[in-house]
Amino acid sequence: MSDRLAVFFDACVFDHDTGQGFFEARASPYLPIVEAHPENDLRARNMYGVLQHGPIAEVLDWHQAEMAERVDLERFHSASYIDELESMADNESCRISATTVFGPGSYDICRMATGLAIAAASHVYTGKAAVAYALLRPPGHHAQPEMADGYCFFNNIGVAIEHLRAQGLKSAAVIDWDVHHGNGTQEGFYQDPDILTASLHMNHGAWGATHPQSGDIDEAGKGAGLGKNINLPMPYGSGDTAYLRVFDEIIVPMVREHRPEVLFIANGQDANQFDPNGRQLLSMGGFYKLGKRARVLADECCDGKMVLVQEGGYAISYAAYCLHASLEGAIYREPSLPDPLVYMREDTDALDEFLRRLKQRYAMALKC
Ligand SMILES: [Zn+2]
Repeated sequence: MSDRLAVFFDACVFDHDTGQGFFEARASPYLPIVEAHPENDLRARNMYGVLQHGPIAEVLDWHQAEMAERVDLERFHSASYIDELESMADNESCRISATTVFGPGSYDICRMATGLAIAAASHVYTGKAAVAYALLRPPGHHAQPEMADGYCFFNNIGVAIEHLRAQGLKSAAVIDWDVHHGNGTQEGFYQDPDILTASLHMNHGAWGATHPQSGDIDEAGKGAGLGKNINLPMPYGSGDTAYLRVFDEIIVPMVREHRPEVLFIANGQDANQFDPNGRQLLSMGGFYKLGKRARVLADECCDGKMVLVQEGGYAISYAAYCLHASLEGAIYREPSLPDPLVYMREDTDALDEFLRRLKQRYAMALKC
């Protein structure tokens, strides 16, 4: 028996225009074909499509939201940073960094994206549903209090947590399994003992002025927040088993100890094995199990109160299927969509077999 799932969505999120070029960079003068920026509307349209028409459609309740108010944004972001973005509201498309594009109309679309996260969080916090998911773009987990970064402008989860705190929330936890380090969320809560932030990411390190945080293990929080920021920089090529073991053996005990009132999931799918932005090997099965384990943890620690918010995921078709799998896990449905692409064996199985054969060969060699 599975639960129903509240989904928060507004079609305006398709209109955030990130343009075309050489993947996320400006177009090359040497290449005749340009391609869509990876954070494009197509990926979100497929996510919307699989939720509207896929097996999970029958248990979804769709909701809309209001754009985030200035007062909400200011609980996480500085007034001067919000002013800066607002001043670009009527501009033509511009690059805030080498990879991050702010298009015409993006200011209000960003406010709507954050509003969807706030509405999903409020829905769960007030007991209207156990689990909610916000389908939105642009993503948020790289957005820092005073800086846009990595396709992100407002930190959707950060603002939603602060909105709930203004309503009385005392503690929360964020588990971020997007393939990139959730540096913006880390930055916003780095000295905060009440918000536990845990990020599983490929070990990509800092990437320049907009992303000085390294995502390394020793970035563990500061002052009263020391020990409340967990970075898990996974080796490149980590797959389902590696992610699930780290989830079970490191994240679960820390969330249990923290006892959050609401569990937030930064639900990116770019750790999937076909993602152009990731170097990890998760399958649909891995995302299903992550979603289910997160729900078990929420049931144990916070009456099942769980809010999943969309982050990255750039393989236009496979990310949508991985999203579907993660949400089925989160509401205790059996996995219903076969994986059309998976071919990687569990990496530890391959490792076990490799070691078995290596030892066998070595033993034979010693006998000769
Ligand atoms: Zn990402």
